[in-house]
Amino acid sequence: MAEINLETYAENTWCNGCGNFGILYAFTQALTELSAEGLDLANVVIASGIGCHAKIVDYVNVNSFYSIHGRVPPTITGIKLANPHLVVIGFAGDGDAYGEGISHLVMSAKRNIDVTMIVHNNRVYGLTTGQFTPTSPLGFRGRSTPRGSLEEPINPLEIMLASGATFVARCYSGKIDHLVDVMKQAIAHKGFAFIDVLQPCFTFFNTYKFYNKATYLMEDHDPTDLEAAYRRAREWQGQADGKVPLGIFYRVTKPTFDESVLRGRVPAGDRTIPDITTIVDTRR
Ligand code: SF4
Repeated sequence: MAEINLETYAENTWCNGCGNFGILYAFTQALTELSAEGLDLANVVIASGIGCHAKIVDYVNVNSFYSIHGRVPPTITGIKLANPHLVVIGFAGDGDAYGEGISHLVMSAKRNIDVTMIVHNNRVYGLTTGQFTPTSPLGFRGRSTPRGSLEEPINPLEIMLASGATFVARCYSGKIDHLVDVMKQAIAHKGFAFIDVLQPCFTFFNTYKFYNKATYLMEDHDPTDLEAAYRRAREWQGQADGKVPLGIFYRVTKPTFDESVLRGRVPAGDRTIPDITTIVDTRR
């Protein structure tokens, strides 16, 4: 087997200590292992939105696309519908996915398009230096809420369960082995796979201490039981205390949107690429 090098020439500009490093490492490890198990990395496409998370597409040597703020779900939907043979993975931040792009996320889960969405949930806008996001805790003090946020955080897992996502998981960027394992299962899942990754922003919302103490892996959970998934998802609502369950909350198999729409067609493959030697140069 040819040696895999997923590194790129791009200089990494994340802050020292950023939780994004754990996600990057886990993702390249997941791809390396999947490749050894038969996945052709030439068929992998990744896309990101806007924010610190988005730089991940610069740091992994596979086909990649920088999308725009909040529009990762429709971007990866389009890629999958153009060529359903591709393995398509989207990355977004919490502001990107749960603020700007929440309707796109909900609709993609509802359709059960066969893609994977990985959300770097640091619960703060890091790139713009510390404003509160939809998952920031009540009382969060940042640039836009110097006296503390007055809003309760949303629970992304509940939203995804209610929207129809067929694979719903939560991980922590500090538990790398678990993150690798869940990423591999999400990528292999046929349907809309969603992972909320708790990712400390070392500079503007350093949550390492809390997550290191509060997170635990679920061992007694049946991921085919939707009601149980809701119960486990509600165990932690984004507060600054309590226990935070990690793992696959829900996983079922349903028909996918791409299969229903395409019925075996491959739009990108159906198109005949013109022979450029026959194109008439109209400038003459
Ligand atoms: Fe990471 Fe926060 Fe720095 Fe962005 S601002 S690179 S999220 S530590």
